[in-house]
Amino acid sequence: MGIITNRDKVLEIYKEAKENKWVLPCFCSENLTTTEAILAATKEYGDSCGISNLPIIIAITCQYDHRTQAAYYTHTRRWDIGLKLFIQDLKILTEKGTPYENLRVMIHLDHIQFDDDKELLDWDMSKFSSIMFDASKLSFEENIKRTKEFVKNKGQIIVVEGACDEIVDASGAEKSELTTAEKAKKYFDETGVDIIVANLGTEHRASARDLKYYGSYARKIKGEIGVNICLHGTSSVPRSQIDKLIEDGVCKVNIWTALERDSSPELLKEMVKNASKIGGAKAVDELVELEMLNSDCKTEERANLDFFTTEYRQNIIYNEMKKVVKAYLEIWYI
Ligand SMILES: [Zn+2]
Repeated sequence: MGIITNRDKVLEIYKEAKENKWVLPCFCSENLTTTEAILAATKEYGDSCGISNLPIIIAITCQYDHRTQAAYYTHTRRWDIGLKLFIQDLKILTEKGTPYENLRVMIHLDHIQFDDDKELLDWDMSKFSSIMFDASKLSFEENIKRTKEFVKNKGQIIVVEGACDEIVDASGAEKSELTTAEKAKKYFDETGVDIIVANLGTEHRASARDLKYYGSYARKIKGEIGVNICLHGTSSVPRSQIDKLIEDGVCKVNIWTALERDSSPELLKEMVKNASKIGGAKAVDELVELEMLNSDCKTEERANLDFFTTEYRQNIIYNEMKKVVKAYLEIWYI
């Protein structure tokens, strides 16, 4: 099946998802390890429920200043090079003869800034399945104007997700108002976007687990615009709040923070446990001396190729990320 970018085909998948009561999961990636973990988890989960062609959305941000993921995809830190690598990785991983050939993979451009990402907005949009056009830092009226303009120019080629309201960053002090049904309807009708991102109480990059998602607001929005809401910032929302999203009008959820946040502790533990094999006895002695490790880590084992490679570290991350992805798939693909 490979990558599906044709607008009508992408919309067909959204239609099928609604009929099946699926919420389409969209995971962001900023490196090949994450990209592969998302594909592998989707394939394994699909196989376990007898669906070999599960749809999956893989996303990347470009010049979004909260996280420039395409730039992180390469150590050149060039978003354009990173974005090309990301597309290429997905193409190669999903072509015929690969383990992921049957998956229906959609590429989403996330938080594309109307100003900072101007250069990308001139690229051929038919390479991508959907785009979040983000003008949410402007006033509401100006946001509508810019988004409407984009829909007019590119909306025939690509599925457009519009940012009706800003989703705040948990690290900042700013708070913004929840999106009302009236506001959502006005934005949806006037811009002509396919999907809207509403502020439903969630936050980006939050590390706490006590965030509240306001389903009642979502249900009111659904009453005005149908099942066309995309939810962002759910990494810190308790699972019990996000298991019936489809009933609230949510058709797509974007996730990233949880992948990185929940895989790192395992890497840390494994590296401490295997400190000698990773860094050698001398490095461990130094850390014990500094009281950063205790003497239990002094196993006197020699540095070992099976432990000191990048592959060793990436493999731990890969396996943990797969678990995170699968846990979400279990909620949204029933
Ligand atoms: Zn977001």
